[in-house]
Amino acid sequence: MGTLNLTKVTKSFGATDVIKGVDLTVNDGEFCVFVGPSGCGKSTLLRMIAGLEDVSSGDVMIDGQRINDLAPAKREIAMVFQSYALYPHLTVRDNMGLALKQAGVAKAEIAQATGKAAAMLSLDALMDRRPSELSGGQRQRVAIGRAIVRRPKLFLFDEPLSNLDAALRVQTRIEIARLHRELGATMIYVTHDQVEAMTLADRIVVLRGGRVEQVGAPMELYNNPANTFVAGFIGSPQ
Ligand code: ADP
Ligand code: MG
Repeated sequence: MGTLNLTKVTKSFGATDVIKGVDLTVNDGEFCVFVGPSGCGKSTLLRMIAGLEDVSSGDVMIDGQRINDLAPAKREIAMVFQSYALYPHLTVRDNMGLALKQAGVAKAEIAQATGKAAAMLSLDALMDRRPSELSGGQRQRVAIGRAIVRRPKLFLFDEPLSNLDAALRVQTRIEIARLHRELGATMIYVTHDQVEAMTLADRIVVLRGGRVEQVGAPMELYNNPANTFVAGFIGSPQ
């Protein structure tokens, strides 16, 4: 299970309202893509869902449980960042296993979980390397592997492919789509890339100035954008 419910969620930084009342349900197993201009609040929304940022008001619920006050490590949510956010002094194996180690999971179980994730992402040969000894694409696969190892109900991806070159972006996108099929987990994916949005999404959420502008399946939005703003993001000429 991994159904996410946001109810009237807001976020202010000081006097600045950044998220202005978001209501959204992301269904169990769904691949949901967030698009919207820079500064519209996509990362802030993900960070609140992950627990890296407090919610100013409203409810964040997973499978009917309110998680507003739950520590990030307890949320069964894993986030993958554009910047990878790997620990430079740890090997790939230890980066991937760290969250489980901190949770007190037994060594043998950690080895099994990291081994399985490594196999899914073809990282087996790289397990003893440090991040500085990896390419950008390999680093991002390690970051995705680290998320998988935690077996979260919900994966959050914040523009994970932005730092990769075009060919690697396509390859990694296909890999993420395969992982979604294999894991059956709920995924929320932020991107600027229209092709990524159209090919990955079950539903696309278009955000504008801290509000949801329109939600729908890619072809629904493409064929029936609510306005020129949405059309601009989904690419149907108007
Ligand atoms: P996006 O990811 O869609 O580009 P963000 O969620 O990063 O947008 O930012 C939304 C708005 O909130 C921006 O105007 C940004 O400057 C502001 N913001 C984000 N984090 C903070 C913070 N910690 N303090 C103050 N303002 C912030
Ligand atoms: Mg962002």
